[in-house]
Amino acid sequence: MCPNCFSILEINEYEYISKKLRCPECDSFIIMADSRPILITDTKYIKYLTSLNQADIAIIKSILDSVFIDYYITGETTPFGPIDLYINEIDIDEARWLLIDFEFYLSHRTGDNKDE
Ligand SMILES: [Zn+2]
Repeated sequence: MCPNCFSILEINEYEYISKKLRCPECDSFIIMADSRPILITDTKYIKYLTSLNQADIAIIKSILDSVFIDYYITGETTPFGPIDLYINEIDIDEARWLLIDFEFYLSHRTGDNKDE
């Protein structure tokens, strides 16, 4: 249950593993601690990128997970919808360094793939 608006939260597999989710009703960011939802209000998350490609997001997640960058993703459960990646402002500089090669790859690939 959302600690802010008290709506029932449906937790998908990713959210269950990451213990982070976003309330679809009130847009609160929630962390599950010992299966108890905690509302995150004092941490600032910055929108880092938007992707339409699940595979790209999967790679980014594996990079960020490997170094325990604090991030969350919205839209992942919506087929073909844009996926937004948000990163904790504390970690964003580190994330930029980690993802610099990957972004280079992305920017080159979109040049010769026009059907997206
Ligand atoms: Zn809520």
